Amino acid sequence: MDAAIAFTSAPNPSPTRFSPSSASPSSRAPQSLSVCGPRRGRALRALRPQSQAQPPAASAAAAKVSHHDVVVVGAGIVGLAIARHLLLHTPLSVAVIDAAVPCSGATGAGQGYIWMSHRTPGSDMWELAVRSKQLWEELATEVDSQEGGGARERLGWMRTGSLLVGRTSEELATLEEKTKVLSQAGIHAELLSASSLHALEPAVSVGKDGGAMFLSQDCQIDAFRAVSLIEKTNNSYSSEGRYMELYNDPAMSLIRSEATGTVEAVQTSRNILYARKAVVVASGAWTRSLLHSFLEPALTLDIPVKPRKGHLLVLEKFDKVKLNHALMEVGYVDHQIAKSNSTDTVSESSEDEHAALSISMTATLDTKGNLVLGSSREFKGFSREVDKSVVKCMWERAGEFFPAIKNVPLDIDQNTQIRIGHRPYMPDGKPVIDFIPDLPNVLIATGHEGNGLTMALGTAEMVTDMILGNPGKVDCSTFSIKYRFSANFGDDFIYLM
Ligand SMILES: Cc1cc2nc3c(=O)[nH]c(=O)nc-3n(C[C@H](O)[C@H](O)[C@H](O)COP(=O)(O)OP(=O)(O)OC[C@H]3O[C@@H](n4cnc5c(N)ncnc54)[C@H](O)[C@@H]3O)c2cc1C
Repeated sequence: MDAAIAFTSAPNPSPTRFSPSSASPSSRAPQSLSVCGPRRGRALRALRPQSQAQPPAASAAAAKVSHHDVVVVGAGIVGLAIARHLLLHTPLSVAVIDAAVPCSGATGAGQGYIWMSHRTPGSDMWELAVRSKQLWEELATEVDSQEGGGARERLGWMRTGSLLVGRTSEELATLEEKTKVLSQAGIHAELLSASSLHALEPAVSVGKDGGAMFLSQDCQIDAFRAVSLIEKTNNSYSSEGRYMELYNDPAMSLIRSEATGTVEAVQTSRNILYARKAVVVASGAWTRSLLHSFLEPALTLDIPVKPRKGHLLVLEKFDKVKLNHALMEVGYVDHQIAKSNSTDTVSESSEDEHAALSISMTATLDTKGNLVLGSSREFKGFSREVDKSVVKCMWERAGEFFPAIKNVPLDIDQNTQIRIGHRPYMPDGKPVIDFIPDLPNVLIATGHEGNGLTMALGTAEMVTDMILGNPGKVDCSTFSIKYRFSANFGDDFIYLM
């Protein structure tokens, strides 16, 4: 994908709403719908020696200079969590910059489950998922012990437990195996027959051959509330000069010292932010294009992250389906990696499995009692268009599990909010959390696909340890850059060292 094309559609801060009556859950009113990230043609020469670091005439006079220890690019859940961890656990000062506003990227579309049910013990992601969940639990406990509303109110935190549901005997066998493996890994997991599931969750039907795996300790957050809480924590360090956030101000290029070659600063559309210790690039699905702008003309690294569009449906005051727990169909597990399977529904080209639309049912109730239904996955660049045919497929898929809505048409004009987000997808299914080999003080933290909310706190801890040079709690080698991508300039992904 061409970087210029990727940035013509910028992060859009607002979910698409069909109900004029309901207010956005974001604590921050979107300020602009048309903020653009850097276009290649307009980007400043990246990696310029400092002596040549002249912003364009129009912005040179206005560019404001500030100095920090760490500059974080991207105020999604990952970037903000990194800032929070640095502020809480180190004496370093931090600036966060975003092309738009928090929750304008994938984070604002996130459903919010912090689950273990769809994970595999011993897999590359396992340790980070376990650690991250533990950190969320600790944060929720801490918030509960403070004044100003508990974790439910301030984080959207609920220990609803999760049900991974299957409808066929094959899926039940998968669930049985999963239950065994998770139990052996110390997770409390229980296999439920169709009738036990019905007793626990009367709104759900899986047929006589199906069943579920129940993880009573799984939790959920509300992405908007969690971001709001993290921002509040970060901003509490502003008065002592340790925190600054700049929104609607896209990062455009890096400024490098002529003497040492070290990256010294990030140039945005209006500011130059010097970073004494590190620059962290946490710009989600935009990271590939941004790195092109940062690294050109000598492109030495191409992180193959790309946007994987998702729709999420929020049905307000919906009383046809009442849930006691959160739900996910067992097929979801396969949907995180891009390949065709039985529930893939449409493809732009049957030859191109990467464009294939896949839908898997996830269902949660939020703290307000709204039914949140997920989700779709497709490769449509940075399109933010609501695709009604995708919404229809999601609704029909949900109807396969909830008899009360089967064959009931969805009225999207009635109290329905549709959120669109672009998951930062990595073809090998793992995030990238590492320093850029050629630029030892620039670190990338992206590529969490459908796991960014869950993994944000563990990622933040890992990044902090990397910046400090401390041994991490979780092995970070799995997420490293080196030797990970093949040196292939074909139609897709490259990595050159
Ligand atoms: C429908 C849906 C449901 C999901 N449900 C869940 C879930 O239940 N649980 C879970 O764990 N995960 C879930 N996810 C995934 C999760 O939302 C993402 O993995 C996560 O939000 C990624 O966070 P991020 O901070 O890396 O990226 P983003 O949230 O996309 O943030 C990146 C930020 O970088 C900014 N940016 C871009 N370019 C620039 C630039 N040039 N300069 C400065 N800033 C820039 C953008 O404006 C944006 O704010 C879901 C995703 C979708 C789409």
